[in-house]
Amino acid sequence: MQCAVYHADAEVVEVQLQLKPEAPVPHPGCFGLFHLGQSTVPHPFSVAWYDAKTNVATLYIKRVGTFSSLVAAAAPAYKDMPTVVTGWHGSLMVPLDAPNADDVVLIAGGIGITAILSIAHAAVAQPHSKTRRVTLVWVLQKVSLVTVLSKHLAELLALAEGTLAIQIHVTQQDAAVGSPAIALDTSPHQAGSALAGMSVIWKRRPNIGELLTRATPSLDMPLLVYTCGPATMMSDVADAVSKRGPATFLHTETFGL
Ligand SMILES: Cc1cc2nc3c(=O)[nH]c(=O)nc-3n(C[C@H](O)[C@H](O)[C@H](O)COP(=O)(O)OP(=O)(O)OC[C@H]3O[C@@H](n4cnc5c(N)ncnc54)[C@H](O)[C@@H]3O)c2cc1C
Repeated sequence: MQCAVYHADAEVVEVQLQLKPEAPVPHPGCFGLFHLGQSTVPHPFSVAWYDAKTNVATLYIKRVGTFSSLVAAAAPAYKDMPTVVTGWHGSLMVPLDAPNADDVVLIAGGIGITAILSIAHAAVAQPHSKTRRVTLVWVLQKVSLVTVLSKHLAELLALAEGTLAIQIHVTQQDAAVGSPAIALDTSPHQAGSALAGMSVIWKRRPNIGELLTRATPSLDMPLLVYTCGPATMMSDVADAVSKRGPATFLHTETFGL
């Protein structure tokens, strides 16, 4: 089984790949090289989600240029296309099981959530310690991409059993959704909504330094930070991490966009 769906609102293609039983299992933060049909140049895409029960890997491909537009156009006929994905490549520079590291902060920008999601999945599915706390912060322009990925976020929240906080910053939104009535709503949303269990902050970027301080006030305690997003965001994260000193460890994923 393999299939692809183009989510027009979010301009993203969701690709599900049924892995062969003998294929290597995708690891957190890994990516595959994706060939489509006659395309001779493979492009890298992260494995956003891996379901070990069904052996299905899910990728999300944002439509930005030539190749990703081809994938979006091909989505309806995708199951009949001779697609090859090779991998998996990449590894975490900061292991999730670093000694005494209770706190994990994951910071994603836009489509960079794909790399961060698999790391979040590993952080909550195989908790390293009973006292682990995971904070996932996702900054993006429009809420439509959250809606596409909300099933995975909901599964993370369920797996984490209260040890995961998800904070979403929607920086640009149409007036109807970002109305003043919900502009100040930072409390977790109620069950039944696509944003259930998440805090949503409208039209405001996070203060990265404050975020890290809130996760681990003591600079002597180990703090693991993982980030993937636009270069400027990752540079802010790197600055905030460097100000904390040697007990804060940073892993970055670069998409080169
Ligand atoms: C390790 C890794 C993992 C990745 N994982 C993912 C993932 O999970 N999901 C994902 O969506 N992406 C991911 N990417 C990024 C993805 O590989 C690229 O977005 C994709 O290969 C771009 O190919 P393209 O032909 O569609 O775009 P290109 O045509 O190569 O365009 C790339 C960039 O150039 C800009 N551009 C293109 N044409 C023009 C123009 N005429 N004028 C100005 N700017 C232009 C585009 O806006 C875009 O920013 C990953 C990248 C890496 C390195």
